[in-house]
Order: sequence, then C-alpha cells, then structure tokens
Amino acid sequence: MTTSPFHVIVIGGGTGGMALAHGLKRAGISVAVYERDRTRTSGLHGYRVGIDPDGSRSLKKLLPPELYDTFVATCAREPRYFIMLTEKLKTSIELPLRQAEDDVNGEKSVSRMTLRQVLFTGMEDVVEFDKEFTHYEQRPDGRVTAFFADGTHAEGDLLVAADGASSRVRRQYLPHAGVEDAKIISITAKVPITPKTKKLLPENVFNGIGLVLGPKGGTCILHTMEFPWGADGELKSGIGGNDADLIEHWPGMLFDNTRDYINWGFWASTDKFPADVMKMRGEDLIELVLKMTPTWSKDLRTLFGLGDPSTCFPINIRTSVPIPQWEASTVTLLGDAIHTMTPGQGVGANTALRDAALITKNLVAFRDGRSTLLDAVRDYETKMVKYGFEAVIESKKQTSGDQPVHKPYIGRLALAGMRAFLFVAARVPSMKRKMAEDIYIYRGGDRED
Ligand SMILES: Cc1cc2nc3c(=O)[nH]c(=O)nc-3n(C[C@H](O)[C@H](O)[C@H](O)COP(=O)(O)OP(=O)(O)OC[C@H]3O[C@@H](n4cnc5c(N)ncnc54)[C@H](O)[C@@H]3O)c2cc1C
Repeated sequence: MTTSPFHVIVIGGGTGGMALAHGLKRAGISVAVYERDRTRTSGLHGYRVGIDPDGSRSLKKLLPPELYDTFVATCAREPRYFIMLTEKLKTSIELPLRQAEDDVNGEKSVSRMTLRQVLFTGMEDVVEFDKEFTHYEQRPDGRVTAFFADGTHAEGDLLVAADGASSRVRRQYLPHAGVEDAKIISITAKVPITPKTKKLLPENVFNGIGLVLGPKGGTCILHTMEFPWGADGELKSGIGGNDADLIEHWPGMLFDNTRDYINWGFWASTDKFPADVMKMRGEDLIELVLKMTPTWSKDLRTLFGLGDPSTCFPINIRTSVPIPQWEASTVTLLGDAIHTMTPGQGVGANTALRDAALITKNLVAFRDGRSTLLDAVRDYETKMVKYGFEAVIESKKQTSGDQPVHKPYIGRLALAGMRAFLFVAARVPSMKRKMAEDIYIYRGGDRED
C-alpha cells in the first residue's frame, strides 16, 4: 500500500507564505501555495520594507543560498543612521545604525516588489496564481480541503494561512480574533532622486532613515532607496563581480519601481483627515499633505510636492487584537493573518519571516519523527503568540491615534516633553548609546530561535 506524502497548503504568496514555501521545498516537504493575485507582478507592492537581522537570518535559513545572495545583492544601500528631526528639519538626535559585518547583520532596505520577485524565483512548480481562497473544511482525520472562488479545491495535511491582514482563514478559524483601526492614516509617495531632490534633505538624512516629529502628531518617515543599478537598468560601477552576476541574472531587475527614490510617508491621527481620504488619490493626497503641514520646512514641503502622484496612496493603519492561544489543529496561521501590526517598529514582515522559519523547523522535526504534527503546530503557536502579539503591542505603543501627541492641548506638551528628552539624550553619550543599542536588540541583532 502506498501512502501519499505529507503535504502542506499555504494560502497567500506574500512575504511569509513564500518564505515558508521555500523552507519546506528545501527541506523536501511537499508544499503548494495558492495566491489571489493574477500574476507575480500584480498589485501595489512598491514601498520600502526594512529587513532587520531577524528577518535576514530567517531568509538565510529558508532560501536556497544563491537566492539569498540575490536578495542581499538587490537591496538598496544600507541606511547609516536613524535621525529624529523637528518639522523644520533640525536634527534632534542622530543614532548610528550598526553596519553589516556579514550578510545577515545590519538593516537592509528592500523594495517590496523586488523582495516579491526574489521570493517567487524558482517556485513556478509550487505557486498557483489567480486562486482566491474562499473557505476550508477540516475532516475528522485532520486533512484539510481549501476551496477557491473559481470552483476548484486543494487538499493537504496542514493548511497555513498566510493571506495577510484581512485573512479569510482567520475569520473562519478564529472568528473572535479581531483587527481594529489604529486611528492613524498614512500617506506615502516616492520622489525620484535627482541632484535637485537630493539637496532637499540634510546629508545625514539622505544617508540614513529620518523620522520627523511635527506638531499636532504629524509625523513623517524618510527613506532613501539607492539601488546597485542605474535609471537605465544598467549596473552602476563599483559593485562586486559576484553581485553583478547575481543581479544580471535576476528576472526582477528591470521593474520600474526599483529606480532610485526617496520614499516619504506622512501620518497623523484619523480625526485630522477629511472623511473621504481613503478615496483620494495622487495629486489630491499630495495637496492634502501640503495643507496639513503649513509650518514645516520649505525643503520638506518641496519634497512632498514632488511626490510622483502615481506612487501616492493612503493607508488606514490597522492592528490585531491579541487573543489567548487556541487549541492546535491542522490549520495554523502566520504573519499579518494573525498578528498584523502598526508600522511603529517596522517589524511586520520580519515577524512573518520569523514565523516561516519556526514552522519550517518544527515541520522538519515532525517529518523526522521527533514530534507529532499537532505538537509541532502547538509549539510554533505557543512561541508565535508570545512574540507576535508582543510586537503588536509594542508597535501600537509607537503608532496609534490614542498616543498623547495626537490629542488637543496635551499633544503640545507631549511633543515638548519628547523633544526635551531627545535634547538631553543627544548630549549624554551613555543615553545615546543605550538608544542605539535598544534599536539593535529590538530588531533581532543577537537573537537566535
Ligand atoms: C507601507 C508599508 C510599509 C511597511 N514597512 C515594513 C518594514 O519596513 N518592515 C517590516 O518588517 N514590515 C513592514 N511592513 C509590513 C509588512 O509589509 C507586512 O507585515 C508583511 O508583508 C506581512 O507578510 P504576510 O506574508 O503576512 O502578508 P502579505 O505580504 O500581505 O501577503 C498576503 C498574501 O496573501 C494574498 N491573499 C490575500 N487574500 C487571499 C485569498 N483570499 N486567497 C489567496 N491569496 C490571498 C495576498 O494577495 C498577498 O499576496 C510595511 C507595510 C506597509 C503597508
């Protein structure tokens, strides 16, 4: 009698789902991914994602070595500092970011589209596009059937929900696990880097990550994305031979959204925006940001105004509501599907990658007879519920419309207090060192699962 091999079905081919699929494929575990998008380049995936040492370590474990090298080679230049500024672009504090001494450490800036292309590489036999998951059925023996909008279905021994913040799997499996508005709206756009736009930012901000803390809770993040290739798609001079080979053979190199750009993201509490902001697009959003920042530095406002309207969109920031751990079964969840979080700490994708590495490790233990399937799932969920919801809570503390800075009157005091703290911290070396060290530790500098 032949028995079919253990088979995993993954719903959603985003950051976490594809990283998991790579890990399982490398380990020789049968896996299939069902992705709603019609093609590998569909959707708005153009913004910057910061991959920290935690995320890089997970990717290195999961991807084939050459693909991991391609991921590293296609990242934008590493940011050197984290700078907090006033709305007049005056530096409150400049914290050095540890530079990579190897291919895992350091803060990597990657275009989401680029990461997506890397993750789809070599997975043609694993991913099916245009497969919108609708619901699943779990049989008494544990096997799971997933159903799709086109009338087809797929069967597996384990179903992993990697279908993002609006997860349909979560709504069926854990209907009590809610997602709520963080009461923050963010508007983001890209500005192509030219000699003129480069001059609009102080040099340390251009070479690092800038966080502008303005009045009325208005906040802006500034990222510079300089890639190893030029606007014509040709490789720039001065990059190593191996990198050049990897990039030249990489199918995603020529996507337009990987040209050098400055990415600005402005946010404030929802009550500061017009009621129809989520319906607004392009020029109207840029006009709105200019209207909301009348006292901000002229250079910064010029930069806002130069945002490419086709890259400008609003985001209603959401956050999951932590729930206690549930009974393990043959359905589990990873990434935003279970712990979507505000961008406060910039760890949503990194946490999804950590989940993928942990599920892979536990399923290898099951495959090798060191654990039962349910123990493997339970162990993953025990750890993930702890670190995932901790990240949700920490991120919400940083970015939520309930923070004092967004309130009338006390908002001014809160901003003044924060600036006074940064003024002191910038002048007391031990405080400054501790702040830099805290960023490194939080972003998984020395962690090993
Ligand atoms: C502007 C912005 C900036 C960010 N910056 C950072 C950052 O710097 N660092 C960081 O760590 N995180 C960042 N994040 C968060 C990060 O992008 C997410 O946390 C991460 O992508 C989550 O990965 P995921 O695999 O869980 O979900 P996703 O990457 O969202 O993937 C979900 C996938 O499921 C598919 N899908 C959805 N529904 C269905 C269905 N019914 N059937 C089939 N497929 C379906 C979707 O098409 C998608 O491909 C940022 C997010 C935003 C919006």
